[in-house]
Amino acid sequence: MDKYLNEVEKELLALVNYHRKDYENTKLKQGGLHPDDIKILEELNNAVEFVNSIAKGRKEREQEKYQPIITQCPDCNVEKQRVPIYEQKNEHGYMTNIYQCAECNIEFTDGKPNNAKDQLHALEELINFIEKNKKDFNKIPAEMKKELAQFKIQYANFKQKCEAEEKSFKIFKQTEQELDKAIIQWRDYLLFAKVNKQWGNAPIGKS
Ligand SMILES: [Zn+2]
Repeated sequence: MDKYLNEVEKELLALVNYHRKDYENTKLKQGGLHPDDIKILEELNNAVEFVNSIAKGRKEREQEKYQPIITQCPDCNVEKQRVPIYEQKNEHGYMTNIYQCAECNIEFTDGKPNNAKDQLHALEELINFIEKNKKDFNKIPAEMKKELAQFKIQYANFKQKCEAEEKSFKIFKQTEQELDKAIIQWRDYLLFAKVNKQWGNAPIGKS
Protein backbone atom coordinates (compact mmCIF):
# COMPACT_ATOMS: atom_id res chain seq x y z
CA MET A 1 0.00 0.00 0.00
CA ASP A 2 3.11 2.24 0.42
CA LYS A 3 3.14 2.85 -3.32
CA TYR A 4 -0.15 4.76 -2.98
CA LEU A 5 0.99 7.09 -0.18
CA ASN A 6 2.62 10.47 -0.78
CA GLU A 7 5.67 11.63 1.19
CA VAL A 8 3.69 13.69 3.73
CA GLU A 9 1.39 10.75 4.45
CA LYS A 10 4.37 8.42 4.93
CA GLU A 11 5.94 10.92 7.33
CA LEU A 12 2.65 11.23 9.19
CA LEU A 13 2.36 7.44 9.61
CA ALA A 14 5.96 7.21 10.88
CA LEU A 15 5.28 9.99 13.39
CA VAL A 16 2.03 8.40 14.53
CA ASN A 17 3.92 5.14 15.13
CA TYR A 18 6.61 6.97 17.05
CA HIS A 19 4.10 8.76 19.28
CA ARG A 20 2.01 5.64 19.80
CA LYS A 21 5.01 3.73 21.14
CA ASP A 22 6.39 6.69 23.05
CA TYR A 23 3.05 7.48 24.67
CA GLU A 24 2.39 3.87 25.59
CA ASN A 25 5.87 3.40 27.11
CA THR A 26 5.68 6.63 29.11
CA LYS A 27 2.27 5.79 30.53
CA LEU A 28 3.24 2.21 31.33
CA LYS A 29 6.30 3.51 33.20
CA GLN A 30 4.01 5.86 35.11
CA GLY A 31 1.85 2.98 36.27
CA GLY A 32 -0.43 1.98 33.41
CA LEU A 33 -2.94 3.16 30.87
CA HIS A 34 -6.03 5.10 31.97
CA PRO A 35 -9.25 5.13 29.95
CA ASP A 36 -8.27 8.61 28.65
CA ASP A 37 -4.92 7.26 27.46
CA ILE A 38 -6.65 4.43 25.63
CA LYS A 39 -8.84 7.03 23.91
CA ILE A 40 -5.77 8.95 22.74
CA LEU A 41 -4.17 5.77 21.43
CA GLU A 42 -7.39 4.94 19.63
CA GLU A 43 -7.32 8.39 18.01
CA LEU A 44 -3.83 7.63 16.75
CA ASN A 45 -5.01 4.27 15.40
CA ASN A 46 -7.87 6.05 13.65
CA ALA A 47 -5.36 8.39 12.02
CA VAL A 48 -3.48 5.37 10.61
CA GLU A 49 -6.69 3.80 9.34
CA PHE A 50 -7.76 7.09 7.79
CA VAL A 51 -4.50 7.56 5.86
CA ASN A 52 -4.65 3.91 4.74
CA SER A 53 -8.20 4.40 3.46
CA ILE A 54 -6.94 7.28 1.29
CA ALA A 55 -4.29 4.95 -0.17
CA LYS A 56 -6.91 2.25 -0.74
CA GLY A 57 -9.08 4.73 -2.67
CA ARG A 58 -6.12 5.62 -4.89
CA LYS A 59 -5.38 1.95 -5.53
CA GLU A 60 -9.00 1.27 -6.51
CA ARG A 61 -9.05 4.24 -8.90
CA GLU A 62 -5.84 3.03 -10.54
CA GLN A 63 -7.17 -0.52 -10.87
CA GLU A 64 -10.30 0.88 -12.51
CA LYS A 65 -8.10 2.62 -15.04
CA TYR A 66 -6.10 -0.50 -15.86
CA GLN A 67 -8.90 -2.95 -16.59
CA PRO A 68 -8.09 -5.77 -19.02
CA ILE A 69 -9.69 -5.22 -22.46
CA ILE A 70 -9.89 -7.54 -25.48
CA THR A 71 -7.53 -6.14 -28.11
CA GLN A 72 -6.07 -7.40 -31.35
CA CYS A 73 -2.38 -7.07 -32.09
CA PRO A 74 -1.98 -5.29 -35.46
CA ASP A 75 1.10 -7.38 -36.20
CA CYS A 76 0.27 -11.03 -35.43
CA ASN A 77 -3.52 -10.51 -35.16
CA VAL A 78 -3.71 -12.41 -31.84
CA GLU A 79 -6.87 -11.28 -30.09
CA LYS A 80 -6.98 -11.52 -26.31
CA GLN A 81 -7.47 -9.70 -23.00
CA ARG A 82 -4.65 -7.28 -22.28
CA VAL A 83 -4.05 -4.77 -19.51
CA PRO A 84 -2.87 -1.35 -20.73
CA ILE A 85 0.79 -0.78 -19.84
CA TYR A 86 0.58 3.02 -20.03
CA GLU A 87 -1.40 5.81 -21.68
CA GLN A 88 -0.38 8.25 -24.38
CA LYS A 89 -1.86 11.18 -26.29
CA ASN A 90 -2.52 10.26 -29.93
CA GLU A 91 -2.29 12.48 -33.02
CA HIS A 92 -5.88 13.69 -32.50
CA GLY A 93 -5.04 14.86 -28.99
CA TYR A 94 -6.93 12.00 -27.28
CA MET A 95 -5.48 10.00 -24.42
CA THR A 96 -5.33 6.35 -25.51
CA ASN A 97 -4.19 3.10 -23.89
CA ILE A 98 -0.99 1.42 -25.00
CA TYR A 99 -0.90 -2.40 -24.93
CA GLN A 100 1.90 -4.88 -25.40
CA CYS A 101 1.68 -8.06 -27.44
CA ALA A 102 3.34 -10.95 -25.58
CA GLU A 103 3.67 -12.92 -28.84
CA CYS A 104 5.65 -10.44 -30.92
CA ASN A 105 6.61 -8.00 -28.17
CA ILE A 106 5.40 -4.83 -29.92
CA GLU A 107 3.50 -1.98 -28.29
CA PHE A 108 0.28 -0.83 -29.92
CA THR A 109 -2.82 1.25 -29.29
CA ASP A 110 -6.46 0.49 -30.11
CA GLY A 111 -6.77 4.20 -30.96
CA LYS A 112 -9.82 4.64 -28.72
CA PRO A 113 -9.97 7.52 -26.26
CA ASN A 114 -9.64 5.99 -22.78
CA ASN A 115 -11.55 8.63 -20.80
CA ALA A 116 -15.03 10.11 -20.89
CA LYS A 117 -13.93 13.63 -21.80
CA ASP A 118 -11.98 12.52 -24.88
CA GLN A 119 -14.71 10.01 -25.82
CA LEU A 120 -17.15 12.90 -25.80
CA HIS A 121 -14.90 14.97 -28.07
CA ALA A 122 -14.47 12.06 -30.45
CA LEU A 123 -18.26 11.58 -30.64
CA GLU A 124 -18.74 15.30 -31.25
CA GLU A 125 -16.26 15.23 -34.12
CA LEU A 126 -17.95 12.18 -35.60
CA ILE A 127 -21.39 13.86 -35.46
CA ASN A 128 -19.98 16.99 -37.08
CA PHE A 129 -18.34 14.89 -39.78
CA ILE A 130 -21.60 13.06 -40.55
CA GLU A 131 -23.56 16.34 -40.57
CA LYS A 132 -21.09 17.92 -42.97
CA ASN A 133 -21.04 14.95 -45.31
CA LYS A 134 -24.73 14.13 -45.14
CA LYS A 135 -25.32 14.70 -48.84
CA ASP A 136 -22.57 12.23 -49.70
CA PHE A 137 -24.55 9.52 -47.92
CA ASN A 138 -27.63 10.12 -50.08
CA LYS A 139 -28.08 6.48 -51.03
CA ILE A 140 -29.52 5.58 -47.63
CA PRO A 141 -31.00 8.88 -46.42
CA ALA A 142 -33.85 7.44 -44.29
CA GLU A 143 -31.67 4.89 -42.54
CA MET A 144 -28.94 7.44 -42.12
CA LYS A 145 -31.28 9.99 -40.58
CA LYS A 146 -32.63 7.43 -38.13
CA GLU A 147 -29.18 6.34 -37.08
CA LEU A 148 -27.94 9.87 -36.75
CA ALA A 149 -30.93 10.79 -34.59
CA GLN A 150 -30.27 7.78 -32.33
CA PHE A 151 -26.62 8.60 -32.22
CA LYS A 152 -27.40 12.17 -31.17
CA ILE A 153 -29.61 10.92 -28.32
CA GLN A 154 -26.83 8.59 -27.17
CA TYR A 155 -24.42 11.49 -27.36
CA ALA A 156 -26.72 13.78 -25.31
CA ASN A 157 -27.14 11.08 -22.62
CA PHE A 158 -23.43 10.45 -22.49
CA LYS A 159 -22.72 14.18 -22.28
CA GLN A 160 -25.13 14.52 -19.35
CA LYS A 161 -23.46 11.61 -17.57
CA CYS A 162 -20.01 13.09 -18.18
CA GLU A 163 -21.04 16.49 -16.84
CA ALA A 164 -22.44 14.90 -13.66
CA GLU A 165 -19.24 12.90 -13.23
CA GLU A 166 -17.10 15.98 -13.78
CA LYS A 167 -19.05 17.84 -11.12
CA SER A 168 -18.60 15.07 -8.56
CA PHE A 169 -14.92 14.78 -9.54
CA LYS A 170 -14.47 18.51 -8.86
CA ILE A 171 -16.03 18.07 -5.40
CA PHE A 172 -13.79 15.05 -4.85
CA LYS A 173 -10.68 17.08 -5.84
CA GLN A 174 -11.70 19.91 -3.52
CA THR A 175 -12.15 17.49 -0.63
CA GLU A 176 -8.82 15.90 -1.46
CA GLN A 177 -7.09 19.30 -1.30
CA GLU A 178 -8.66 20.03 2.08
CA LEU A 179 -7.56 16.60 3.32
CA ASP A 180 -4.02 17.24 2.06
CA LYS A 181 -3.93 20.44 4.10
CA ALA A 182 -5.22 18.67 7.21
CA ILE A 183 -2.64 15.91 6.81
CA ILE A 184 0.18 18.48 6.56
CA GLN A 185 -1.09 20.16 9.75
CA TRP A 186 -1.25 16.81 11.51
CA ARG A 187 2.26 15.92 10.42
CA ASP A 188 3.58 19.30 11.59
CA TYR A 189 1.80 18.96 14.90
CA LEU A 190 3.23 15.50 15.57
CA LEU A 191 6.69 16.60 14.43
CA PHE A 192 6.56 19.59 16.78
CA ALA A 193 5.51 17.33 19.63
CA LYS A 194 8.36 14.91 18.85
CA VAL A 195 11.06 17.59 18.61
CA ASN A 196 9.88 19.42 21.72
CA LYS A 197 9.23 16.22 23.66
CA GLN A 198 5.86 17.46 24.66
CA TRP A 199 2.42 16.19 24.05
CA GLY A 200 -0.70 18.24 23.69
CA ASN A 201 0.87 21.71 23.65
CA ALA A 202 1.84 21.95 20.02
CA PRO A 203 0.21 24.76 18.05
CA ILE A 204 -1.80 23.25 15.20
CA GLY A 205 -1.11 24.66 11.75
CA LYS A 206 1.74 26.95 12.78
CA SER A 207 4.67 25.36 11.06
ZN1 LIG B 1 1.49 -9.57 -31.85
